[in-house]
Amino acid sequence: MKPAPFAYKKVHSLEEAVALLGEHDDARLLAGGQSLIATLNMRLSAPSLLIDINSVGGLGGVTHKNGKVEIGALVRHAEAERSELIAKYAPLIARALPHIGHTAIRNRGTLGGSIAFADPAAELPACLLALDGEIDATGPKGKRTIRAQDFFKGLFETALGPQDVLTAIRVPAAGKDTRTGFAELARRHGDYAIVGLAASARADGKKLSDVHLAFFGVGATPLRARKAEAALTNGNVDAAVAALDLAPQDDVQATGAVKKHLATVLLRRVANQLMEAR
Ligand SMILES: Cc1cc2nc3c(=O)[nH]c(=O)nc-3n(C[C@H](O)[C@H](O)[C@H](O)COP(=O)(O)OP(=O)(O)OC[C@H]3O[C@@H](n4cnc5c(N)ncnc54)[C@H](O)[C@@H]3O)c2cc1C
Repeated sequence: MKPAPFAYKKVHSLEEAVALLGEHDDARLLAGGQSLIATLNMRLSAPSLLIDINSVGGLGGVTHKNGKVEIGALVRHAEAERSELIAKYAPLIARALPHIGHTAIRNRGTLGGSIAFADPAAELPACLLALDGEIDATGPKGKRTIRAQDFFKGLFETALGPQDVLTAIRVPAAGKDTRTGFAELARRHGDYAIVGLAASARADGKKLSDVHLAFFGVGATPLRARKAEAALTNGNVDAAVAALDLAPQDDVQATGAVKKHLATVLLRRVANQLMEAR
């Protein structure tokens, strides 16, 4: 199918993007286009204007400062995969990136686009939640920072306002005691996951502390499994599985019951990763 007709404008500054979003109610920002163009082609959305932000300065690059790793919104998945800073200081994101689509998609798709799109089966929103990350956005009132736990509001719904541009994401830099775990089940490598789990923890002697388990593909947003986190902090994997209180709905990929079972399988795998010596 072909998209409905739309106008196209390439902008060179955040101010221009924010102003245009204010002038056109149904305009959409265009980053990598790997989700947006598909929805246009399937006529799931028909914006009158696409605002191309690829030439806006200051939205790229990966930096490590003040104990945090900051990733610009326009950093592409493939660029992030090659980043030594991300490999060293954001190892959970490094583990998740190869699971996103295929090479061609990772060459164009951006980290900012993935977080803003907030697909409930996407890897990066769950990573951000597991890492207690932050999102920077610029809108008509200037810049603000939103915690990941307050960002994902519902199905494809985020805390971004209609005139907001996501400019960067930030996660705490991993240290010597950081543990991460990641696993997903997809029909074929590169497909969206049926269920996935992104996890982070701190090694506390032989125990774990600060366990964060963020499941994806099991609800409208990525979800923390807080009772299972508490059980895993006590080192009891069976108790963590028993405490897993997810209630996934049926979807096109699997029934809720199958998803719940798969979530327990992933929890055991990821618990082993967290408990392994690094
Ligand atoms: C076949 C296929 C398989 C895929 N598989 C996966 C997968 O397994 N896992 C996965 O996570 N993703 C998958 N994707 C999606 C891919 O990761 C996209 O790159 C990503 O979801 C969106 O990033 P983008 O830069 O392409 O955004 P775009 O498609 O350009 O934009 C997506 C949405 O986000 C908005 N947006 C983009 N950037 C910003 C910004 N800076 N501020 C505010 N709003 C913004 C746009 O207006 C639009 O509404 C797949 C895509 C395809 C086509």
